Amino acid sequence: MSASILVVEDEPAIQELLTLNLKQAGYQPLRAMSVEQAQLLMRETQPDLIILDWMLPGMSGIEFARRLKSDGSSKDIPIIMLTSKGEEVDKVRGLEVGADDYVTKPFSPRELLARVKAVLRRRAPQMTDDPVEVGGLRVDPITRRVTGNGASIDLGPTEFRLLHFLMANPERVHSRSNVLDKVWGDGVYVEDRTVDVHIRRLRKALESSGHEELIQTVRGVGYRFSAH
Ligand code: CA
Repeated sequence: MSASILVVEDEPAIQELLTLNLKQAGYQPLRAMSVEQAQLLMRETQPDLIILDWMLPGMSGIEFARRLKSDGSSKDIPIIMLTSKGEEVDKVRGLEVGADDYVTKPFSPRELLARVKAVLRRRAPQMTDDPVEVGGLRVDPITRRVTGNGASIDLGPTEFRLLHFLMANPERVHSRSNVLDKVWGDGVYVEDRTVDVHIRRLRKALESSGHEELIQTVRGVGYRFSAH
């Protein structure tokens, strides 16, 4: 599942450059020219990351960032602020409202992509292409191969995403609704018990290499991937 990245930028040339580069890097770019457009778009779909210009017509990027970070439904979306202001005081303000990173114009697309990757790795590890390995169980998002102690394990697409999400966010308890949001996606209507069904299938598939015990049920709460 490639990460969707919302670019909020009112300068068409920069908007174009960013969306092109993001697409080439394998992301799904979404675009908005103003905060208003971004808000409309976000009613339909929650992006995995937002690249937000500071100076925008209407509401400023910094004010939008502040609002996103104070709203429960959007506070976890990582934000990279874009600005032509290079002063330290602005950087501090950007980080104060909760932006995850800060890039000063003019920037190279390469630099920005590196920042995007770093922020996703930190904030949404299941959105990166890095292989994850725990205790002999290995998931490779690029080849979509799963191996247990070197032996191939066959997983359906949902079980694959589920395992990748759990392994990328280990040692934490995930509620069923959180798993649904992250693995099935926002706005998809699926019942909580669907998660249980897929967890059961996943465990079954992992039995061949004895890794099924890494997926723990936390009674009354949800699931946890743990090597301990
Ligand atoms: Ca601007």
